[in-house]
Amino acid sequence: MGPPGAGKGTQAKRLIAKYDIPHISTGDMFREAIKQGTPLGLLAKQYIEAGHLVPDDVTIGIVRERLAKPDCQKGYLLDGFPRTIPQAEALEALTKEIGREIEIVANIDADDKELIRRICGRRVCTVCGTPYHVDTMKPKVDGVCDVCGGPLIQRLDDNEEALKVRLGHYYVQTKPLLDFYRARGLLYSFDGTKDLNVLLNEIISLIEAKTR
Ligand SMILES: [Zn+2]
Repeated sequence: MGPPGAGKGTQAKRLIAKYDIPHISTGDMFREAIKQGTPLGLLAKQYIEAGHLVPDDVTIGIVRERLAKPDCQKGYLLDGFPRTIPQAEALEALTKEIGREIEIVANIDADDKELIRRICGRRVCTVCGTPYHVDTMKPKVDGVCDVCGGPLIQRLDDNEEALKVRLGHYYVQTKPLLDFYRARGLLYSFDGTKDLNVLLNEIISLIEAKTR
């Protein structure tokens, strides 16, 4: 868990590579369920195509299908789910039922000023999607992708106004979830402003200590 720009995605990529476990994001799960044509996938498709939010019970059904697969037996990393208390409660019940309970909730935090600095400086290649930052990850040639030579742009919602709206939603939505997991002794907070490798090693140490 963590606000936009805290570095969740970066740490998730490194952790799944180290532990060879599936990276499960709700967005990917919907796409996969729809592609495989499962009954829940077809149901989700109807909501998405009509421009509606997918209801909790459909989302939870898809999470259940995914977590029950054999590749989740030695562990999994959930990203972007749960986002609400009803989702967290349903997740708790279903993971108990299938014997794959959540062991660690990692909350990667950073203050708003740092998040704004990161997001507003973000640039992305329009051709291959490689991310850059105007201060910390500059391309060799200004405005040009190192990888493919494509033009770099700033995404429309990567501006201070839009980010403040997203952060506002995040705090309202997520604060109760942090309390939910804190009460269960599962919540661990990390400082997202630390060096990426230092942060990764802290998370790994926790995983090693908790899953031994
Ligand atoms: Zn590129």
